[in-house]
Amino acid sequence: MAKKLNIAILYICTGKYTVFWKDFYESCEKYFLKKHKKSYFVFTDSDHIDYDNKKEVKKIYQKKLGWPYDTLMRFDMFLSQKDELKMYDYLFFCNANILFEKEIKEDILPDKYAHGGIMVTQHPGFYDKTNLEFTYDRNPKSKAYIPMGGGISYVMGGFNGGLSEEYLKLCEELSKNIHDDLENNVIALWHDESQINKYIINRKYRILPCKYGYPEGWDIPCYKDDIRILLRDKASKKYGGHDYLRN
Ligand code: UDP
Repeated sequence: MAKKLNIAILYICTGKYTVFWKDFYESCEKYFLKKHKKSYFVFTDSDHIDYDNKKEVKKIYQKKLGWPYDTLMRFDMFLSQKDELKMYDYLFFCNANILFEKEIKEDILPDKYAHGGIMVTQHPGFYDKTNLEFTYDRNPKSKAYIPMGGGISYVMGGFNGGLSEEYLKLCEELSKNIHDDLENNVIALWHDESQINKYIINRKYRILPCKYGYPEGWDIPCYKDDIRILLRDKASKKYGGHDYLRN
């Protein structure tokens, strides 16, 4: 049997986003790289979350920073755990509203040489668009700036990861870029998503198709019969809607 890998899942749920955690955890245990050992690093301001008595669930206190800092400052959060995270084989960030729907196997893992150790996921809103339509950051003052005509993929911020060493390098670089932007009173258009889209330009990476990030309630001809990851609809009344969730 192939080597059993140590995988760290990075998960942020500050404020109302804890509503997604229980189902996320259960679906991840059931379907995501299930032959391997998974640990969960959960950044939250909640006193208690389901399954926090399990030894593989590490709850890390994270103050609610307010929108968009709850998502923008993610790389600083991850780097606060760097000494532990570097002991893992792979690290994966999952948006709070991710729900695993079917088994996800080792074929998503990025290779160090072919993919530079980094995995990203196609943004479902842009699978059929040209790079002129991608919502890259077009502000030359931002470190996430991409000029018109540049770039070949538009990836979502919600599911990415990689070999521990390579992903931590990504976190270091994007944290620095975000802090540089903040010092210049700039926030990239789509926050961390703009930054990661800039990061992959002229680099190697493995890109997953939108069956690994298919929005609930959408009907797009993009592997809709084989959805592996559903992005639960934050606008839905079930979860309270964006404004409620983000407070
Ligand atoms: N998030 C959070 N608390 C908040 C806002 C955002 O924990 O108040 C985290 C959560 O992990 C969420 C991620 O930041 O999945 C990205 O935010 P959101 O899903 O609202 O942004 P989108 O992916 O829709 O741009």
